[in-house]
Amino acid sequence: MVTEFKKGLANDGEVIAMLPSYVINRPTGSEVGVYLALDLGGTNFRVCRVNLEGYGNMRLTSAKYTISDELKTGPGEKLFEFLADCVAAFCKDYGLDPTGDSIPMGFTFSFPCKQIAIDKGMLILIKAIVNDTVGTLIAHAYSDPQTYISVILGTGTNAAYVEKVANIRKWGSGSGEVIINTEWGAYKEASILPITHWDNALDRKTTNPKQQIFEKMISGMYLGEIVRLILIDLIKSGELFNGVGSQLLEEPYHFDTAYMSRIERDHSLGLSDTKQVLEDVMGVVNSSIDDRRIVKHVCELVGTRAARLAAAGVAALVTKINRLDACTVAIDGSLFEHYPHFGNRMRDALRELLGITAQNILLEQARDGSGQGAALIAALV
Ligand code: ADP
Ligand code: MG
Repeated sequence: MVTEFKKGLANDGEVIAMLPSYVINRPTGSEVGVYLALDLGGTNFRVCRVNLEGYGNMRLTSAKYTISDELKTGPGEKLFEFLADCVAAFCKDYGLDPTGDSIPMGFTFSFPCKQIAIDKGMLILIKAIVNDTVGTLIAHAYSDPQTYISVILGTGTNAAYVEKVANIRKWGSGSGEVIINTEWGAYKEASILPITHWDNALDRKTTNPKQQIFEKMISGMYLGEIVRLILIDLIKSGELFNGVGSQLLEEPYHFDTAYMSRIERDHSLGLSDTKQVLEDVMGVVNSSIDDRRIVKHVCELVGTRAARLAAAGVAALVTKINRLDACTVAIDGSLFEHYPHFGNRMRDALRELLGITAQNILLEQARDGSGQGAALIAALV
């Protein structure tokens, strides 16, 4: 991965894009003021009112709106109309007067976006346009200046980090530092990644085959689907549910990653909650306790692999920037936040990869980090 990171810094068009963010300042913790922040992810749209109080403290009020599939796949204009409606509703609900003094606003996108300047997008009224990974890094650095890396583990996965401009060969020469949005989800080195035939089966049916392979092994959008494909094979071979499947099990993406969390959290003697999930979500009645143990074990394997691969990416970045002595990694996204043991599994893998120095690498939850970061970057520019 370090090799691929370096290639991305040297040339355009490499597998890992390594996009410079144009964010050249990190916060000092003394920035103050009230800001609006918008955070558009793959699943949710968050609107936040961020009050920077200085001394590394901030207060945040936020509301979450779900982006329907219709909006996601429809024309951009409809999507942005919806986003504007959400902001208007938020201002009304939280007593912000949008017709009064103007409120600086940052906008976080979780989609790769080749920027040409900090505020060069199509929305000229916005102070700053920020990638969610970059936002998360900045948000965490406000209270912890050792934050050099951030990771998103949500619908997708990505990472950002602080790089010396002198190392960005595709930029020619320069000094100082800049935050790089790696777009590491694109990593796909088949001789290195432990790709199984279920990964290949999943990949073939996606809209972007042979791309984002790392992401497809790690992130919330895909883990449940990998589990579903494995379960179907186990049914076919007669090892699960006496070889009897269900119609719901045959539906692609019907088994959401959130159900893996529920199953992994089920420590009851009879795995009763797992039974419930199988019945309610998958339409599988009459599962035996052995069946449920197998299902739980599959979830553990797929979930653990994801955490360990994410940790490998973190180890690569920490090594790349030579921060093995002290580095905080800010992590945002529902997968990291809600999936049981995800953080500890990452820590275990870091320890295996980096040895005792792994204790210098702090993995920290950065809830709403990308939204806060958008506000902070608006403050910084
Ligand atoms: P976004 O990617 O839009 O910023 P999130 O960070 O909330 O949004 O991530 C959404 C993803 O997290 C979805 O793919 C969903 O499957 C997954 N997810 C949501 N809740 C859980 C949970 N309890 N356990 C595991 N994954 C979850
Ligand atoms: Mg997000």
